[in-house]
Amino acid sequence: MPQPNTQSPPQSVTEKLKDEKKAEEKSKSRFSFFDFLKYKTIKEDDIAELIEEFRYQLLEADVSYEVSEKILEDLKNSLVGKKVSRSEEIEKIITDSLKKSIEEILTKNRGFDLVKEIKSKGKKPYVIVFFGVNGVGKTTTIAKVAYMLKKNGISSIIAASDTFRAAAQEQLAYHAQKLEIPLVRGKYGGDPAAVAFDAINSAKSRNIDVVLIDTAGRMHVDADLVEELKRVVRITKPDLRILVLDSLAGNDALEQARYFENNIGYDAVILTKVDADAKGGIVLSLAYDLKKPVIYLGIGQEYDSLVPFDPDWFIKRIFQ
Ligand code: GDP
Repeated sequence: MPQPNTQSPPQSVTEKLKDEKKAEEKSKSRFSFFDFLKYKTIKEDDIAELIEEFRYQLLEADVSYEVSEKILEDLKNSLVGKKVSRSEEIEKIITDSLKKSIEEILTKNRGFDLVKEIKSKGKKPYVIVFFGVNGVGKTTTIAKVAYMLKKNGISSIIAASDTFRAAAQEQLAYHAQKLEIPLVRGKYGGDPAAVAFDAINSAKSRNIDVVLIDTAGRMHVDADLVEELKRVVRITKPDLRILVLDSLAGNDALEQARYFENNIGYDAVILTKVDADAKGGIVLSLAYDLKKPVIYLGIGQEYDSLVPFDPDWFIKRIFQ
């Protein structure tokens, strides 16, 4: 699995100047464009070019075609038929409309706090199962979640239920040792549901608050995998099913989300590697198409590189 490039490439001075000039020309042309719209009733034709520009920006940010169309339709509706006397007014209508449609799409994404959720539910142990295709950052994310819980005084145990992937077991053992968190491992090729069940029993007898269950994520679409994951869910009855997705995977991530939704089902998403270049437009598609919230973002390889999803930050990122 190649490492994402977390640094932007060095930019030469000439390139930088060129970029600055381009940005200046763009803002000039937008300004004169807004000037052209002053004192007249705005018609759909008047803004066709502007809409195209936004469409390009949204698609560049990995926002799906369907979601982009919804945002742009809202934008058209808020502009067409308006009569404005200052170009600043037009800019404000545009920004407000974009913010409003994105906020509407992201309503479910506001304010999820796992620590609060675990404490308020008061169930012991609280069981979380993690799904995700190999390489998306699932084991790292489990370690990050364990670290966050520990920092907030919540104890956890990890179930290494991907018994076919020795590397995943080793990696989880490494994290568990570093974080001083117990781990239940299975024999190679052993029953994943049994490993998860053992971890739950162990949590009960040791008074541990949360069980974090890793699962297999073999890449090829595999009927056995679906049955295996369904069985883990049936036997462990999780309180929360988290799907881990890689923001660098673009459309593939959305396909994975659909696959897991259609075959197994999940409640929320953690999106990883957002520190690399992806703008994360997939967040909108997940919310719009699948009605699933993104609750945390992975923003690096350290244990504390897990942050709650903030819709306002996201809106800025898309249109920066
Ligand atoms: P798994 O196969 O899904 O369990 O994936 P891993 O947890 O082994 O992660 C695959 C690679 O992605 C590892 O090199 C991780 O360090 C890296 N990784 C995971 N999350 C992030 C993240 O949020 N940002 C960055 N930059 N790398 C990450």
